[in-house]
Amino acid sequence: MHLSLEDKTFVVMGVANKRSIAWGIAQALDAAGARIIFTYALERNEKSVLELAETLNRKDYLILQCDVESDEQIQTCFQTIKNEVGTIDGIAHCIAFARKEELRGDYTNVTREGFLLAHNISSYSLSAVAKAVKDLELMPNGGSIVTLTYLGGERVMENYNIMGVAKASLEASVRYLAYDLGKLNIRVNSISAGPIRTLSAKGVGDFNSILKVMEERAPLHRGVDTREVGDTALFLFSDLSRAITGENIHVDAGYHIMG
Ligand code: NAD
Repeated sequence: MHLSLEDKTFVVMGVANKRSIAWGIAQALDAAGARIIFTYALERNEKSVLELAETLNRKDYLILQCDVESDEQIQTCFQTIKNEVGTIDGIAHCIAFARKEELRGDYTNVTREGFLLAHNISSYSLSAVAKAVKDLELMPNGGSIVTLTYLGGERVMENYNIMGVAKASLEASVRYLAYDLGKLNIRVNSISAGPIRTLSAKGVGDFNSILKVMEERAPLHRGVDTREVGDTALFLFSDLSRAITGENIHVDAGYHIMG
């Protein structure tokens, strides 16, 4: 089935390279004809985002810096979007970070700094971005915000540790933001993706065995890829999902239903 989002503009936050889930979402949006605004964290990320954006069908993309640890950068980034584009129809928030040493071993080893850092970048950033959208009236006709989470936010997954706790906070934020922004017809949902080999995933201890167990035990007996997550994001960005908000959709070959 072909979905058309030709008259729509989406902000995709968190493309690091071609393996990023954010890039799978960008590819799905591009296939639907949407215009894309990319944001990246660090100057060194800009080149690879530009190289990937050049492969898209639509060349009217924008690429802006937005390190979500900085309120100033969030404000400048979304103000620039307002000035250059006027209004947008949705945001894919595909951002997370935790210290590598806190993604292995016992959860009790977490430090105060590590706890706050993971929550700041991986959870608070969604609320900060949603606030910018609201304050700048970037979605006057309503819209859709999608973030990415993982089963470790609902259940204990070995080594996921502090990121699981931050994802639980992110998933609760989705519900509260969905309530707030529902008044503006802005929907907020999360996709709980199965494990995918990305730059961030490499930081999680023993990631290979997480993948192996998923392939063995998931009802579909396979892993998932970034385009499959991208297609679900496309659904959440489209009118097909117009009555869905505050929801968490698992794109994990069914792994989460297993006891
Ligand atoms: P990735 O490394 O490609 O993407 C993570 C992105 O977060 C990078 O682009 C990085 O630059 C960005 N980021 C980190 N700190 C930032 C900051 N301060 N400001 C702005 N951006 C910042 O890895 P990914 O796996 O595609 O991760 C995307 C999202 O998907 C994350 O939320 C991750 O937790 C989630 N997720 C990943 C998996 C998986 O197995 N890969 C599974 C479920 C959910």
